[in-house]
Amino acid sequence: MSDAQLAQEAALRRTFAIISHPDAGKTTITEKMLLFGNAIQLAGSVKSKRAERHATSDWMKMEQERGISVTTSVMQFPYNGRIVNLLDTPGHEDFSEDTYRTLTAVDSALMVIDAAKGVEDRTIKLMEVCRLRTTPILTFINKMDRETRDPIEVMDEIETVLNIQCAPMTWPIGMGRQFKGVYHLYDDVIHLYTQGQGNRIPEDKRIEGLDSAEVDRVLGESAAEELRMEVELVRGASHAFDLEAYRRGELSPVYFGTAMGNFGVREMLNGFVEFAPTPQVRETDTREVVADDGRFSGFVFKIQANMDPKHRDRVAFLRICSGKYERNMKMRHVRIGKEVKIADALTFMASDRSHVEEAWPGDIIGLHNHGTIQIGDTFTAGEDMRFLGIPHFAPELFRRVRLRDPLKMKALQKGLQQLSEEGATQVFLPLDNNDLIVGAVGTLQFDVVAHRLKEEYKVDCLYEPVNVNTARWVYCADAKKLDEFKRKGSANLALDGGDYLTYLAPTRVNLQMTQERWPEIEFRATREH
Ligand code: GDP
Repeated sequence: MSDAQLAQEAALRRTFAIISHPDAGKTTITEKMLLFGNAIQLAGSVKSKRAERHATSDWMKMEQERGISVTTSVMQFPYNGRIVNLLDTPGHEDFSEDTYRTLTAVDSALMVIDAAKGVEDRTIKLMEVCRLRTTPILTFINKMDRETRDPIEVMDEIETVLNIQCAPMTWPIGMGRQFKGVYHLYDDVIHLYTQGQGNRIPEDKRIEGLDSAEVDRVLGESAAEELRMEVELVRGASHAFDLEAYRRGELSPVYFGTAMGNFGVREMLNGFVEFAPTPQVRETDTREVVADDGRFSGFVFKIQANMDPKHRDRVAFLRICSGKYERNMKMRHVRIGKEVKIADALTFMASDRSHVEEAWPGDIIGLHNHGTIQIGDTFTAGEDMRFLGIPHFAPELFRRVRLRDPLKMKALQKGLQQLSEEGATQVFLPLDNNDLIVGAVGTLQFDVVAHRLKEEYKVDCLYEPVNVNTARWVYCADAKKLDEFKRKGSANLALDGGDYLTYLAPTRVNLQMTQERWPEIEFRATREH
């Protein structure tokens, strides 16, 4: 491999995730993008899962989210000469940790907004996470085939609520039944919408030039005049596109359309592959890593149990940050200090699992995990360094686990250990007693854990309430102080699944008082892997 080839391959990659509120159209737009990438023949294949999802209980939803995720967790497809990697995130908010970590592995995000609803809760939350790394955001305002709110108002709302400037790239012509298409503000082209083309790649019917006579003919003179005035107004009242501001996460290019009608998606994708950043510089504890550095490196952002009963393995998703992966290459698994040979990494081309011969920066490969890999682990070509910024969030909910069959203690411990490595739950072992406490961000996680303990580890367990309100990871540079704190505060101290010292506070007030009493001790709400 030459340096030039590495730089070239890296420059082709666009690795991103979609952020949106449930029902805004994430699944639908994913489907259409895959269609444009020729990754599926006919849109609709992702749909069956959606139909079921809406009809069933939370429990089923959770099962499905886990069930589909290995195959659709990462979708790679070619578009306009680029290679696009789309990282899926679970829709249910109880799995938000998974989503947050996936967002650490992308270089940009696509925000999908329902034009009738505007900015919704979950989008606000996800946007906050994107802000932590100033991830560039491109916006698609969806469902223009319905009666929507005034597009200017929706953009205003994005600007004020999400605190990001909006630069319209296309502008909708009408809405609902009167939706005629979009006008591209920079290409000066009108793209006309035809209904009923949702499941194929629609023909691009275009009119060149807003001022052309054809516009009057097709839209009617008064509608054409109205559009011209509106466009003038929009140009005057909104921000102009600025590539640098987009890359800094300060401005979002905005596209309009209908994912269901597969319209406006093409214009958005064209803009996306042109403007979205290539694999970005990443921080480690020793140096910065640039994508076209020939030394291989990457980190694990997600571990997923494979629901396919034929292979009960777990897959660790590794984002390549620099260098090239080749089949049978040796990598250093930094945390355990071992060189491992990776013969059978998975790739996710066309949403199908297949064995990969080579992969480049920005790509995701799936490593078979037999329990040695944890979220946040770094793999390198031999160097001892660790990628930073893959967070572990303090859980909000806690339960004590009790076994129905006390003889199954070993299996329970093993199960909990593995599930916590995967990020499915967090486990805490109190210093003073033999309890097993699990923590979660959403209640559904407890159900998943109990279900999987039973299915995968043959352990039947119960949950009991436990007097823990919140957890904080404990750090202190002064070893003597820390020892003293451990002695005096041991009743509330535990080790988490990664052996980090954690303070389990029975109440917020207790936490506050403890913090005041021990000013030298740091109590952190997130732990970096
Ligand atoms: P997700 O929850 O964000 O993945 O949203 P889905 O893609 O599942 O879409 C939610 C619902 O909105 C589904 O019933 C879709 O058919 C519908 N939908 C998605 N895009 C559009 C659109 O452009 N127009 C209309 N009218 N409905 C849409």
